[in-house]
Amino acid sequence: MVETLEIRLHGRGGQGGVTCAKILASVYARLGFHVQTFGDYAGERSGAPVRAYTRVSRKPILNRNKVYEPDHLVILDANLLGPEALAGLVPGGSLLINSPEDPGSLGGRFPGHPLGVLDATAIARRHGIGTRSLVIVNTTIAGAFVRMQDLPLEELEKAYRSLGLLSNFPAAKEAFETVRVLGEGTGTAADSGIRDTEPASPPPSEVEPLVTHKESPPTGLKTGSWRTQVPAYVETLAPCNAWCPAGNDVVGFVQAIARDRVEEAASILARTTPFPGVCGRVCPAPCMEGCNRREYDGAVRIRGLERWVADRFPARRPEVQPSPAPRRFAVVGSGPAGLTASWTLARLGHRVVLFERGPLLGGVLRTGIPPYRLPREVLDREIGGILDLGVETRTSFDLDRNGLEDLRAEFDAILLATGLQSLRGLDLEGGDLPGVRQGIGFLEERNSGVLPPLRGRVLVLGGGNTAMDCARSALRAGAESVIVAYRRSLEEMPAIREEIEEAREEGVELRECLAPAAFLGNGRVEAARLEKMVLGDPGEDGRRRPVPTGEFLTVACDSVLLALGQSAKTSILPEGAGIEGGRVTGLPEGAPVYCAGDFATGEGTVTHAIGDGRRMAQRALLALGEELEVFERPDRTQAVPITDIRLDHFSKAPPGEERRRTDAARLHPDLEVNLGLESPLEAHRCFSCGHCTFCDTCLVYCPEGIVRRAEDGYELDYSYCKGCGICVEECPRRAMEMRT
Ligand code: SF4
Ligand code: SF4
Ligand code: SF4
Repeated sequence: MVETLEIRLHGRGGQGGVTCAKILASVYARLGFHVQTFGDYAGERSGAPVRAYTRVSRKPILNRNKVYEPDHLVILDANLLGPEALAGLVPGGSLLINSPEDPGSLGGRFPGHPLGVLDATAIARRHGIGTRSLVIVNTTIAGAFVRMQDLPLEELEKAYRSLGLLSNFPAAKEAFETVRVLGEGTGTAADSGIRDTEPASPPPSEVEPLVTHKESPPTGLKTGSWRTQVPAYVETLAPCNAWCPAGNDVVGFVQAIARDRVEEAASILARTTPFPGVCGRVCPAPCMEGCNRREYDGAVRIRGLERWVADRFPARRPEVQPSPAPRRFAVVGSGPAGLTASWTLARLGHRVVLFERGPLLGGVLRTGIPPYRLPREVLDREIGGILDLGVETRTSFDLDRNGLEDLRAEFDAILLATGLQSLRGLDLEGGDLPGVRQGIGFLEERNSGVLPPLRGRVLVLGGGNTAMDCARSALRAGAESVIVAYRRSLEEMPAIREEIEEAREEGVELRECLAPAAFLGNGRVEAARLEKMVLGDPGEDGRRRPVPTGEFLTVACDSVLLALGQSAKTSILPEGAGIEGGRVTGLPEGAPVYCAGDFATGEGTVTHAIGDGRRMAQRALLALGEELEVFERPDRTQAVPITDIRLDHFSKAPPGEERRRTDAARLHPDLEVNLGLESPLEAHRCFSCGHCTFCDTCLVYCPEGIVRRAEDGYELDYSYCKGCGICVEECPRRAMEMRT
C-alpha cells in the first residue's frame, strides 16, 4: 500500500509557484517524509499559467505522474480559479487562495472543501518581496499553507534558513497568523491527511483516451542508456582542514558543535591533538585564514570554537592500543612537538621516556607564553592527559652530543624536539649596555614566577608574538610605557591579530618601519637610535623587504627587549650529520634519530609543532616496521573553493565576538584576558564546505524524485535519473558531483 498526500499549485510565471512547491516539500522532508516536487517546465514565461506539484509519502515515491487528483490546491492567483484549476480535487480536499476577498463570499463556491483565504500579494508587497511591478507571493503563501495543515511554523523557518530564504520568513509568519480559514482542516500529513493512492478498483482493461488522466502505478519509463552522467555523494577537502597544520578535522568538529554534539566534537579533536585547550587560545589559526567564509563576511571563529569544546570536555585519557611489538622511544624536549610525539607513540602502545631541560614540562608553552594568554591550569590539564598514557619523564636533563649517543644505545629510536634555543642578537653599538636584553629571557623569568624589576620606558624590538608577549608582560611588570618598534609595516607584523589588538587596548604603542641602529647611554641604556625604513620588493617569503632610508630618530628608553627571532641549536648533532625528511643522517651505527617541531622546521607555531610531532612519531614507527598511515599535510589546491559554495543559501552574519576582560584586573599577570566565545552559535556560520549536512536540498530539488533518504544519508535511484545535474547544482556546499 502506498500512502501519499498530493498538492497542486496554480500560479503565473514569475510568482514563484515552483519554488513554493519546493518549500512545502522541504517542510515535509524535515518532518521525516519522502517527498517529490517538480513543476511544469517550458511554460514559465512571466504571466503564463504555471503548475507545480508536491507529493508527500511515508514510503519511497515511485509515482512520477503529475498530480491529477490533489488533496490540496494552492492558488497563487485567484483569476486562475476555474474548471482547470479545480479539476480532480478530491472530496474534502482543501483550497488555499491568494485573494483580497472575504472567505465568506468565496466559500459558497466550494461546498465541502476547507478553504483558506489571504491577501498574500498585499503581505508580500508590505515586506518588499519582489519588485514594484511583480510581487512574488510564493514564500508568503507557504506560511498560510503551514497554518492550514497544522504543520510546525518552526520547521518552515528552518526550511527557509536552509534554502537561503530566511529574509522572507516574516511575511510567511504574517500569512500564518492572518490566513482566514473556513471549514475543517484536512489534518496533517502525520495523521489523517495521507491517503491510500492505490486504485480502489482494478484499472480498466480498455485503453483510456489521451485526455483522461488517472492516477497510475509507477511508470515503467526508466531512463535507459541515453544518460551520460549521474550524480554521486562525495566528501571534498574543506579549506579549514587543509590549512590546519595539526591536521585537525575542523569541519567535522565544527559541524558536531552545530548539531549540539559538543562531546562528539571533543572526540573528533582528540583524534589529532592532545592540545585543543592550548590551541583554542594561542594558535595563530591558519585554518581561519583558509576559511571560505572569510571572503563572505568573516572567517568562522574556529579557534574560539576549539576552545569552547576543550573547556567543556577536557581531553580525557584516550584508549591505548596495545602494540604487538612495543618499542622504547626517547623524546627529547617537552614543548608541543615532543609532547605530541610522546602522545602519539604512547597511544599506540610504545614506551616513551620524555626528557626536558627545565624543571617543568611544557617547553615554550610554559616558558614563552604568559599565563594571561594561556592559563597554567589548562596547560597542566592537557600535559596531564599525555602523562596519563604512561609516558615517563626526566626533567633537568641537558642533552649534548655524548648524551645523544648514550640515548641511542639505550632506546630503539630518538626524537629530538628541542625547539629554537639560539637567540638572534644584534651586533650594534651599545648592544652590551645594561638594560638591553633578550625578550625570551625576560619572558622565561616572568613566566616562571620570577618578577624582574622593570620600570620606566620599555622599548621592544620585533613584530612577532614574542614581541607582543614582551610588551604586554612589561606592562604587567610595572613599566610606565611600552613602545614596540617593527622594521616592516604594521599590516605585516607576524603576531596574531588579536594579540596586536589586545596589546593596543592595553596601551602599548606600535611604531612601524623602524629598525635599530644603536643603543645610547652612560653606564645603562637611555635611548635607542632607530633608522626609518621603507618597504621594497617582496622577498622569498612573499613579504616586502624593509629598505633603509638613511633617516634616523632617537627614542628614549630605560630598557630594551630584543624579540628578533630564534633558531635551532644543532650543536647536539655530531659533526657532518644532516637532516633529510626529518631523519638525522650521517650518524654512526645505532638507533635512528628523528627531528620534530621547530628544531626541524623552524615554523614557529604551536599548531605546526603538534602536526610535526605526530608526523615524525608516525614516520619513526613506519621505519621500524609498523603499519600505519602517516599524517601528511593535505594539498590545499584540492580544497573546495568559495566559487563552489552556493552563497545564496547563506545569510550574512558577522563572526561571533570573543569576550575580553575589561575590568580593573585586565593587567593582572595571571588572569586570562580573552574569555572566549559567549556561545557556540558561531558553529552555525560554517558552510560545511564539501561535507553533506543532510539539508535535503538535493532531495527537494530533484525534478525526478529519485533522491531518497537512506539510513546514513541518501540513496539515488539511478534507473530514473536523467542526469540533469540539478541536485549537484543546487547543493549549497559541493557535497555532490556528476560522474560518468
Ligand atoms: S590547531 Fe589552530 S589551525 Fe588547527 S584548527 Fe585549531 S586553531 Fe585552527
Ligand atoms: S566555512 Fe566551515 S567548512 Fe568551510 S572553510 Fe570555514 S570552517 Fe571550514
Ligand atoms: S544538497 Fe544538502 S543533502 Fe544534498 S548533498 Fe548537498 S549538503 Fe547533502
